[in-house]
Amino acid sequence: MARFVFITGGVVSSLGKGLAAAALGALLQERGFRVRLRKFDPYLNVDPGTMSPFQHGEVFVTDDGAETDLDLGHYERFTGVPARRTDSVSAGQVYAEVLAKERHGDYLGGTVQVIPHVTDAIRDRIMKQTDDVDIVLVEVGGTVGDIEGLPFLETIRQMGYEFGPSQCAYVHVTLLPYLASAGELKTKPTQHSVRDLRAIGIQPDVLLCRSEQPISEAARRKISLQCSVPVDAVIPALDADTIYQVPVDYHVAGLDVAVLRRLGLPQHAEPDLDRWRSVVEAVRQPEGQVTIAVVGKYTELLDAYKSLDEALAHGGIANRVRVRTEWIDSEVFEREDASARLEDVNGILVPGGFGGRGAEGKIAAVTYAREHRIPYFGICFGMQLAVVEAARNLAGLQGASSSEFGACTDPVVGLMTEWEKDGEVQTRVIDGALGGTMRLGAYPARLLRGSLVHAIYDETDEVSERHRHRYEVNVNYLPALERAGLRFSGMSPDGRLPEIVENPDHPWFVGVQFHPELKSRPFAPHPLFRAFVEAALTQSRLV
Ligand code: GLN
Repeated sequence: MARFVFITGGVVSSLGKGLAAAALGALLQERGFRVRLRKFDPYLNVDPGTMSPFQHGEVFVTDDGAETDLDLGHYERFTGVPARRTDSVSAGQVYAEVLAKERHGDYLGGTVQVIPHVTDAIRDRIMKQTDDVDIVLVEVGGTVGDIEGLPFLETIRQMGYEFGPSQCAYVHVTLLPYLASAGELKTKPTQHSVRDLRAIGIQPDVLLCRSEQPISEAARRKISLQCSVPVDAVIPALDADTIYQVPVDYHVAGLDVAVLRRLGLPQHAEPDLDRWRSVVEAVRQPEGQVTIAVVGKYTELLDAYKSLDEALAHGGIANRVRVRTEWIDSEVFEREDASARLEDVNGILVPGGFGGRGAEGKIAAVTYAREHRIPYFGICFGMQLAVVEAARNLAGLQGASSSEFGACTDPVVGLMTEWEKDGEVQTRVIDGALGGTMRLGAYPARLLRGSLVHAIYDETDEVSERHRHRYEVNVNYLPALERAGLRFSGMSPDGRLPEIVENPDHPWFVGVQFHPELKSRPFAPHPLFRAFVEAALTQSRLV
């Protein structure tokens, strides 16, 4: 049976619990253990797919087509282990399952209760598909004390009692706020948070103390004594200048040793963290810089484009340059000329998006990139709008648009009601439910030999990338668009869904219907991001 490490959070939200879990996962992996990371979210939404990115950040999509919390992106980037649908669980999913069973009569007339029915369902999901790993890291979303988090905490408490201390460890992430007026770090909120946890019956084994300032020995000892946690398991977790420094810092602070010791697992030799150190060095000591404008909608909230931001950084690491990102709200281009904001950038990227608001501004950014020969990278919505732009301005179809914005004379981007997956036809209806009804997850694309993307993907003939969209470029328009200069260099194997478009008359103009940013990793930057940043670097040398 696998061992379980439960990660909870206290004091405040947004402590970087997901990143801490990912870093611990990476450290255990560097020590030779097979790990899997899971996220349990106490909210009642069935999945984050219908939640606004403004509130909840990006929706991360797995190969098997689940719409999940963005922390799964950290897990994948840090451990390289592709996440599965079963790695992201919300209270909504658990309740939906329990209620469906109740309606079906599975409880045989018994009273259906949070304990044991909901907690048993949570436990099943914690344990599902874990036979192939040594350690499962389970992050419980929210903060200790939240009402909706209780069934999750009760479940992990029960598991610890049942399986015993060598099988389960509890890591609690807290905050030590710094009071400038007093000139000291305060330990009281941590004590309270641990007290809340103990009231539920959970004694933390390791405290990961987030702090802006170094934590003194005296403070650690005080926390240790008051929380009954050995002093060497009170781990200082200071802010880092790059997230890739976090595993190295946590290792130096003793996190992996504290967890292994608690589980009675061998510590063997020191883990080799050289590849982390070299990524950090590449981030800290770039040899140049490029500026990329990201023209989107949720530009005030970086979490809305988390994977994109990371993938651009990976592209920078691959080229040893710093990627400076300018986040621009596309609506500004509906009021003012694009040149003022785009004149000095080395690349323009239009990311995924939904709905008509700001779409014309994104199209204006595409026009600017095309006419001024600035590298352009369109992702999902950014690809669809690049096709609309070309249809209008190169193919002369003035009424071209996407049917996402309503009826139009030339729906070059339209709703597909049928497509194929694994040999089966998938269907959807125009007024169908919004949740989980998009083309989601990994789909293959055949690449055109001799095209730019074929070279970028190292002459691979077929690639697999992750999708999340409802609309598709309408194949019926391909002949007209190709006559106007576009080249569809990636298609679904059945030839019905355009997956990649490029413009061979332009130095670097690529649109992809999928989300390559979801598969980029620090140790394996995605080829499209590597090539885009490289093109931006070339452009920067021309001006
Ligand atoms: N709104 C578009 C669609 O649904 C694009 C989606 C996206 O960019 N993820 O097809």
